Amino acid sequence: MLGWARRLRARRLHRGRIPFPSWQGATAGVTALAHLGPVQRARLRTLTARFLREKAITAVGGLELGGCERVHIAAQICLPVLALGLDWYDDWYEVVVYPEAFVTEHEEVDEAGVVHRWPRELAGEAWGRGPLILAWEEIVHPRPGGNVILHECAHKLDMRNGVANGFPPLHRDMSREMWTRTFSEAFGHLRHRLAHHHATPVDPYGAESPAEFFAVLSEAFFETPQVLVAECPAVYEQLRRFYRQHPARRVDRPRWSGPAAEPCSPWSQRGWQPR
Ligand SMILES: [Zn+2]
Repeated sequence: MLGWARRLRARRLHRGRIPFPSWQGATAGVTALAHLGPVQRARLRTLTARFLREKAITAVGGLELGGCERVHIAAQICLPVLALGLDWYDDWYEVVVYPEAFVTEHEEVDEAGVVHRWPRELAGEAWGRGPLILAWEEIVHPRPGGNVILHECAHKLDMRNGVANGFPPLHRDMSREMWTRTFSEAFGHLRHRLAHHHATPVDPYGAESPAEFFAVLSEAFFETPQVLVAECPAVYEQLRRFYRQHPARRVDRPRWSGPAAEPCSPWSQRGWQPR
């Protein structure tokens, strides 16, 4: 019987389906996925398996990633395109994962044409048509309410129509004017609050630029949707139309109550361990 079960599991893996216990373990404890309904979870599982078949996840810097960690990463990458489809990621191929924050050379040209370069430590980075780069430690120990994977995926979607500028390609039934007005007002409001040292429920990093604002609010949309609805209902509505998901409604639902799953916490049991 055990041999039969093992053969079945091996055959499923070969066909690219994620065995149910592995799926449960790899996604247990992920806040943004906790309230998905059974139909959405099933769709996400299928999408995640396809992602793992079609894209590469490359561990670098001495990091080792097993199957559980790869599913853990891929499932969160697939969440933003759950209702859009994997084609929204068809302009890039690889996810590169560092053990911890990595340093990149940042370059900026000033008004006089002088090039300034300086090193920057990053927890994630998205290159146009290039790889999605992530730090494993940031995935395992996210900022409260933050999610580096969702953040970088928002940049990827934003870059589908050019440079990241907080204006991703909108659907036909969306208004460009409404999007621009809504985000501009909310962005101005955040900067005003920060300038006057007022508390803000939105990560202050969003005030860096419209691109970062869109990425930070996309994190909030999936991680803390009820806070976003309460604070910025117009922005939530635009994001709901863009992602074609309604996470605030999910939060009202009882949590999914399938068989209890032990989180496969390989980061604390085997392989690389965060310091
Ligand atoms: Zn960013």
